[in-house]
Amino acid sequence: MIYDIGIVGAGPAGYTAALHAAKKGLSVVLFERDCIGGVCLNRGCIPTKAVLHSAEVYNELKCAENLGIVTSDISLDFQKVMERKNQIVEKLRKSLELMIKNSKITVIKAEASIKDKNTIAANGETYTCQKIICATGSEPGTFKGLEFDHEKVLSSDDVLNLTELPKNIVIVGSGAIGVEWARIFASFGTEVTVVEAAENLLPAADIDVSKRLERIFKTQKINFHKGKCVEKIDRGDICKIHLSSGEILEAEKVLVAVGRKVSCKECIDGVEYIGDVCGEIQLAHYAIKQAAAVVDGIPFDKNFIPSVVYGNPEIAWFGKREQDLEKGSYQKSNLLISALGKSQCDNAVDGFIKILSQDGQIAGAHIVSKEASSLIQQLIIAAQNKIDVDKLKEVCFAHPTYSEGIFEALFTLQ
Ligand SMILES: Cc1cc2nc3c(=O)[nH]c(=O)nc-3n(C[C@H](O)[C@H](O)[C@H](O)COP(=O)(O)OP(=O)(O)OC[C@H]3O[C@@H](n4cnc5c(N)ncnc54)[C@H](O)[C@@H]3O)c2cc1C
Repeated sequence: MIYDIGIVGAGPAGYTAALHAAKKGLSVVLFERDCIGGVCLNRGCIPTKAVLHSAEVYNELKCAENLGIVTSDISLDFQKVMERKNQIVEKLRKSLELMIKNSKITVIKAEASIKDKNTIAANGETYTCQKIICATGSEPGTFKGLEFDHEKVLSSDDVLNLTELPKNIVIVGSGAIGVEWARIFASFGTEVTVVEAAENLLPAADIDVSKRLERIFKTQKINFHKGKCVEKIDRGDICKIHLSSGEILEAEKVLVAVGRKVSCKECIDGVEYIGDVCGEIQLAHYAIKQAAAVVDGIPFDKNFIPSVVYGNPEIAWFGKREQDLEKGSYQKSNLLISALGKSQCDNAVDGFIKILSQDGQIAGAHIVSKEASSLIQQLIIAAQNKIDVDKLKEVCFAHPTYSEGIFEALFTLQ
């Protein structure tokens, strides 16, 4: 049989491409060597956010007396936290598997290799396809001296399998993964130190976001070092982590979260590459967008991709950062979240909405706030559709909400 489409990798990029192609009536063969759902569902977005939710609730309960709720004897059952995370992953995986089955997609559970633009080999057989999509994703990356041993020096996969909380941990890297795990561990009572090689925490973010994160880390008692590299780790019951500054940190565990390497050996002409394997923007929603572009021809614009760091408060942004703009070429807003009635009611006053505008258009937005992940989407819809600042002011935002902060922020642009 000749398949219309052969897809290697069943992460968000691969399964989205497969489901969309099947919906169009195309015959699809999908290869996966591990679990359906890829990194996102099994080792990334979903399990991390499930654990993070436990951490957030635990934190809120610890402060519940401020809300007039009397609590006593709050304690953490870490094993249950991890069990719940596993159950969520399993449930979502089963429903995805069912969707794939109902879509009549042929699934081959095996390592596959793409031979040429029409041939895939797996399990000693070859499969002929009119079109091939490679969506093989990415794996945790590391540096010399920081190699994972999965016991002491951990990857983002390994932390999801911990059965006990370490007393202390050093996290190398303050990208989204490093920051989210710093928040999780700190909430659970582990002493956390983050080491970042760049001059600012969360180096991909706007400068004001990085600065605010420092304040948040200080309040959440997360230690950090900026502008310092980890040069080597002496592994033992207590690891010694040598920094480029000459300082030596000590910790039971080290989490290395310094980026991801692509799972692909060579690129073949005529094959479509989508998702993390492109090594571009390694986010699940970007992978999904690319899949829809390849299969359905739905266009998308890379300038309007949201970035989100979860936890309390959330951090979200898109578009241009202030440090990249020429002085005098832009206006900026700075609305403090504490100004919003809703934030006071929710006891969630930390943060701001910073909108950057150029020639009346929204050029970028940087939000630190509860619900920032939803707020950023509103600004992306406006910016991508060229709804300018004045037009956006005509929109009625409900009260009391965080959304009305967008409305208020527009009036502070200068
Ligand atoms: C801890 C963590 C948290 C994250 N949180 C977020 C988040 O909150 N939001 C967000 O947008 N993104 C997040 N990400 C990133 C997100 O998980 C990835 O961008 C997304 O999974 C990429 O999807 P993909 O389909 O390109 O690749 P993957 O999800 O990596 O899937 C690729 C699949 O291909 C399979 N495969 C590889 N080679 C072969 C082969 N030769 N034969 C057969 N199968 C093969 C792999 O087993 C894998 O299942 C997170 C990542 C991590 C690690």
